[in-house]
Amino acid sequence: MSDLSTGPSTLVIDFGDLPSLVCGFLESDPTRAVLWHRRGAGVAGARRVALLEENAVALGVERTVFTDPLPAAFAERPELVEAIDLLEACTAAESLGCHRVVWPLVCGPDPTLLANAVERSCLAALLAASTPDVPRVVVEIPVADLADAAIADLAEDLNIPPRLFWPCTSDAAGRTSPCGTCQECRRWRGAFSEARVEWPWAGAPAAVTV
Ligand SMILES: [Zn+2]
Repeated sequence: MSDLSTGPSTLVIDFGDLPSLVCGFLESDPTRAVLWHRRGAGVAGARRVALLEENAVALGVERTVFTDPLPAAFAERPELVEAIDLLEACTAAESLGCHRVVWPLVCGPDPTLLANAVERSCLAALLAASTPDVPRVVVEIPVADLADAAIADLAEDLNIPPRLFWPCTSDAAGRTSPCGTCQECRRWRGAFSEARVEWPWAGAPAAVTV
């Protein structure tokens, strides 16, 4: 177990998306934080890892932890992936001596979804406890109740460098701008527009594929 006075105190789950970036930049002392990321498949997964490494440098975090991808069949069970990620992150936090886990889940202002997220976070902390029934980690969900537009607004307020954000989940190699048509591109372009925050690739040349 790490020295509580000098070791990492917080594990930030980083999905390589904008809510994760915002959570990292909200940390008061990122030098005592660990970024935890599950590798994804293909070009999109590799790009997220590269961005996360840049993000770690920008934040000055103590270390990054990369976990192996789940089997492809899990892609059809996002709720199961979410539960496994949270449990593994809580377990990693316990073993690293962290007492906080930051989960960048976004529910929006829906009380039922929020209550469900809090319940799942308590359960994961309990299941990950190295001493039965005595959870050492507390899971915080700092952006859970925010709408996507509020997250875009917050990213601007926090002066997050636009180069650290890449919404696109397209697997085409050599892209210089997001595809604009995948689900995440549409989601975040809409959020930036609603928040009246400049889209980082506005006016960018059409995507290039090699
Ligand atoms: Zn896209």
